[in-house]
Amino acid sequence: MGGERSSRLRGFDRNLLRNSGYLEERVLEAVPFCWFCAARTGKKAREHVFPQWLIKHYGAQREYVTPVRVRVPLGGAVASARPRMPISSVLAGEVCARCNNGWMSTLETEVAPVLTASRRRGVVSDADALVLARWFTKTAVALNVSMPFRLLFDAPTRHSLAGGMPSNVAVGLSKVRSGHGAFDWVQSVIQSAHIPDHLVMNGRVRDLLARAYVGRIRVDRLVGTVVVLPGPLRFDQLNMGVAQIWPIMDRQPTWGAVPTYDHYLDHVVEAYFVDSWLV
Ligand SMILES: [Zn+2]
Repeated sequence: MGGERSSRLRGFDRNLLRNSGYLEERVLEAVPFCWFCAARTGKKAREHVFPQWLIKHYGAQREYVTPVRVRVPLGGAVASARPRMPISSVLAGEVCARCNNGWMSTLETEVAPVLTASRRRGVVSDADALVLARWFTKTAVALNVSMPFRLLFDAPTRHSLAGGMPSNVAVGLSKVRSGHGAFDWVQSVIQSAHIPDHLVMNGRVRDLLARAYVGRIRVDRLVGTVVVLPGPLRFDQLNMGVAQIWPIMDRQPTWGAVPTYDHYLDHVVEAYFVDSWLV
């Protein structure tokens, strides 16, 4: 890759290319005008990954993001490292004013009562499932484009968030008993895969696993797990270890059935490969 072309990549990819000459599976894409739409011109906005009203709600104005590196067993993949910074200054990277003042602003208004509810009871309604799934996915995209981790949301997936949920993303909920501060996240890939013997050494299986993004985002006691499945991996081959809210199921979980863990990373995201899978 020539210097001129690679200079338009994200700094994270540029540095890796320079230092190792090798990049693990990822979306290689020049930094766009807006990560969330196809606009090439217009006004830019400063989009915070975690909105100020939410930070204020949890009294987290002085909370700091602490750097983390988590090693997961699959191929020695490293979860995202994070710079130390105040949570209130974590920005989403390139976002245009139309996205920021339009659908993102509407989404914040819709998600506010669900995210800040002190008691949640009954079935997770389809409306709440959609708004939570979109918000956690939007937040995962904002983290994925701006933090040091492989870019795994391609443009069609990112852009479809403006009007609903992307078709290749699953979202689940869990709860934690306690946590340090109100906000946390880790980006990684699928941690465990069940693969028939004859496919273990199959390069396509390996590449697909390397592209299957798993983001875990904690807001106080609620944890959203966002999984991007590269085709032909299907949702029924996925076990997130949490209560799935998206895609919507015939029987949506109740809030009481959302599993509780000690720590927000305690659940394991697994994929099941079957013989007919690569056909
Ligand atoms: Zn935009």
